[in-house]
Amino acid sequence: MDENKQAQLKMLPGVDRILEYGADGGHFDPIPKSVLIPAIRAAIDALRSQILQSEIPLDSSCFSRSLLVREVKARAGRIMALKLKRTVNATGVVVHTNLGRSLLSPSVLEHLTAISSRYSNLEFDLEAGRRGSRYSAVEGILCELSGARAAMVVNNNAAAVLLCLDTLATGREVIVSRGELVEIGGAFRIPEVMAKSGAILKEVGATNRTHPRDYENAIGEQTGLLLKAHTSNYSIVGFTAAVSLPDLVSIGRRHGIPVMEDLGSGTLVDLSKYGLTREPTVQESLAAGVDVVTFSGDKLLGGPQAGIILGGKPHIDRIKANPLTRALRIDKMTLAALEATLQLYRDEQQAVHQIPTLRMLTLPLTVIQARAAELKSRLERVSGERLTVELLDFSSKAGGGSLPMLDLPSRCLGITVGGISANAIERWMRNSNPPIIGRIENDRFIMDPRTLQEEESDIIEKAFADMLADRTQGR
Ligand SMILES: *Cc1c(COP(=O)(O)O)cnc(C)c1O
Repeated sequence: MDENKQAQLKMLPGVDRILEYGADGGHFDPIPKSVLIPAIRAAIDALRSQILQSEIPLDSSCFSRSLLVREVKARAGRIMALKLKRTVNATGVVVHTNLGRSLLSPSVLEHLTAISSRYSNLEFDLEAGRRGSRYSAVEGILCELSGARAAMVVNNNAAAVLLCLDTLATGREVIVSRGELVEIGGAFRIPEVMAKSGAILKEVGATNRTHPRDYENAIGEQTGLLLKAHTSNYSIVGFTAAVSLPDLVSIGRRHGIPVMEDLGSGTLVDLSKYGLTREPTVQESLAAGVDVVTFSGDKLLGGPQAGIILGGKPHIDRIKANPLTRALRIDKMTLAALEATLQLYRDEQQAVHQIPTLRMLTLPLTVIQARAAELKSRLERVSGERLTVELLDFSSKAGGGSLPMLDLPSRCLGITVGGISANAIERWMRNSNPPIIGRIENDRFIMDPRTLQEEESDIIEKAFADMLADRTQGR
């Protein structure tokens, strides 16, 4: 090693010295010791590597007090930054599982905050003055809205399916159409959940066609349940046949076998009224006579993550008595958010306007067009000639495995910037604070205004201005 490098390595301050630098002026006071020491060590290590790697001796300013203090503070800040970050969703995918699915509306947050920051009657019956059931907060309203006789909620819909199968069909056969052996994201597959529940899968029919006689022929001594799974994230088209829920219910009735439906996305509102494709509603499933139906709280319902189980009282009572219920139980924050979300459904118009998921799904194209035009002119204003914005008639997606075939007409911004590739724009936006998530198509950075929230245009405008300023400095 050359002498210069050795001399510089000797100049490296130790931890104590940097602590002294920071103590002067109280720079490190807000940083917990558990973070400060590792941050200082990391700063020293970084400087050491710089010395070792540099061709020429480092400038003495690299060893200055102020620079070292700033470096330590920056590192401590990065260590302490919360990992879960509020993110701008410019993908146009409304129920985006990777970005947190449904957003909660302000009235829901108010209830959630009140219930979780204070004691509550979570499991206390205020009238009787004794222990109560945590499910009673939502059971009544779920029955009222859906027409079910009884209701139960757990952590998520995957848990709901597991719990129902475990309760109703452990050790027995569950008949499912081959066209409905769904896999959804995150490795939830009907056959595997079935195996975990101890139920035995009995597939019937073909991938594209299943007939009533397929179920009839498969029913035997061992049959415990007929299961219909909503093919929520795919669609089988062409030469197809499936047995409708009412037909499946009548087969079940004839043989005295319960029928369960996993609706997946599960909506309480007939979305076709708002120009979307028809999804079967929860009410329709119950009216068709299904014994048990399950669906997610945070997909089309637009509430918190939860798994909702509705059905007849005898079945729901058995489900409630299953010891697994305790392991899958829903937390008070979720319960509060779910109750407040359900309240909004008492008035459908209110639900559609106030529940962000429904509002974004039903957003009129004219509103999206206006937002796109406004964002375009704002970006052009801050960025001048270098940035080109095209308005593109692309479509948005419902996401979350809901309405797979539905393209929601939208108007997207397609952005190109001279000297910066689409990949580089995407990366810059993703690493901005808060991160902005868009997508790339045909070498353009695409942003869909459908999923942007209030004041997020400001965030986007600033991120683009910062990116251009950074790139103009030639970095
Ligand atoms: C989404 C989905 C599930 C899982 O629901 P989570 O609430 O994500 O656990 C199960 N079944 C179907 C058909 C689904 O679409």
